[in-house]
Amino acid sequence: MKTQIEPFKIKSVEPIAMTTREQREQYLKEASYNAFALRSDHVTIDLLTDSGTTAMSSKQWAALMDGDEAYAGSVSYYKFEDEVRKITGFKYIMPTHQGRAAEKVLFTALGVKDKFIPNNTHFDTTRGNIEFNNGNAVDLLNEAGKHPEMIADFKGNMDVEKLEAFIKEKGAENIPIVMVTVTNNGGGGQPVSMQNIKDVRKVCDKYGLPLYLDCCRFAENCYFIKQREKGYENKTVLEIAQELFSYADGATMSCKKDGMSNSGGFLATNDEKVAEKAQTVLIVTEGFLTYGGLTRRDLEALAVGFREVMDENYLRYRIGQVEYLGKKLSDAGIQIVQPTGGHGVFIDARDFLSHIPSTQFPAQALCNEIYLESGVRTVEIGSLMFGPNTMMELVRLAIPRRVYTQNHMDYVAEACIEVYKRRNSVKGLKLVWEAPILRHFTAKLAPMD
Ligand SMILES: *Cc1c(COP(=O)(O)O)cnc(C)c1O
Repeated sequence: MKTQIEPFKIKSVEPIAMTTREQREQYLKEASYNAFALRSDHVTIDLLTDSGTTAMSSKQWAALMDGDEAYAGSVSYYKFEDEVRKITGFKYIMPTHQGRAAEKVLFTALGVKDKFIPNNTHFDTTRGNIEFNNGNAVDLLNEAGKHPEMIADFKGNMDVEKLEAFIKEKGAENIPIVMVTVTNNGGGGQPVSMQNIKDVRKVCDKYGLPLYLDCCRFAENCYFIKQREKGYENKTVLEIAQELFSYADGATMSCKKDGMSNSGGFLATNDEKVAEKAQTVLIVTEGFLTYGGLTRRDLEALAVGFREVMDENYLRYRIGQVEYLGKKLSDAGIQIVQPTGGHGVFIDARDFLSHIPSTQFPAQALCNEIYLESGVRTVEIGSLMFGPNTMMELVRLAIPRRVYTQNHMDYVAEACIEVYKRRNSVKGLKLVWEAPILRHFTAKLAPMD
């Protein structure tokens, strides 16, 4: 059969907002031209993020009832820990309320002041947490990953030569850890190959550095490895994940992604000293070791989610849905990051709105125009998020897990294509107000006259 179907049926439905163009113009103005400030009941299809927007399964909803709400030693924690350990093999597993909390705990425990932390591409909160602790976040992405139109299997790979040169330049004593983000969210949800992880590990070993994975989308990454990397085609996603984590000393995760759940995260490490410090930070800022800021029932949902996310029927549909939307856009002439990655389609706004200079936030302008056209909310990953030196100007259409159908994707594609037809009339934006850090979340903008 050629038609890809959703490998689930729908047991409970939630109505979505249907709005008029006139209403949307008003809503966007009230939101100061920043989609983050839109009320969700003014949004028809919400592709702002795939984070915490997952539809839970009936098994997960059932598991919630089993939550053991004990403050200490909750049975729900041990179920969560068992699942995470089965996949990652890590010794110390600390739950947190979401991914950035795990980052905060890790960087506080490591002490990163004036130090350097290389990554393929730091996600915005990872960079934010390092900089907030007066450290330096450094991106060392391979060359192919920087070119949206270039087709390659593993555009998330770290540039290993650059990594080694960087360590030599700064000195290993100034680099507390090396990180690799799987898949590379900031660079289009592109996967990292097992070979690249092994090569990074080799460099880390040579200089005595620990390797940590930002593993928010480990299952999607492992599915790509299975599809694209020689020697992995007959392995299960679990086996691939186990090998992937075996090269790392620790990890941070936002379970709001491949935990298939609406909240949660964890910090894991094999290093006893790091764990001791992290546990203190965790207790002071998140919560006790066996819940880390989460209700225990959330840990139950995560324990089930970690099994469901590695189901290959699910992953085939998941990656297939993203590919389906990407193909519709590129067939219409819209330049997207090729090939499509794990969790969304990334439109190249520099190409789409080539008449708008980056000082006028072309990617943000495109987000707004897609919203006005259709009520579809997307997100800017460009000069508003990263500043004027941004590598790319992208609009991310992040697909929530198990939430939208193929018909919804057709509607989204139609909206983008309509805007594409009248792209020359789209205007840029100017900044009216910004916060000193992570400004894209709260920035206020206005259309250029
Ligand atoms: C989402 C995300 C984070 C942060 O996680 P939150 O749960 O949103 O705090 C960190 N790194 C990557 C790669 C992410 O995608």
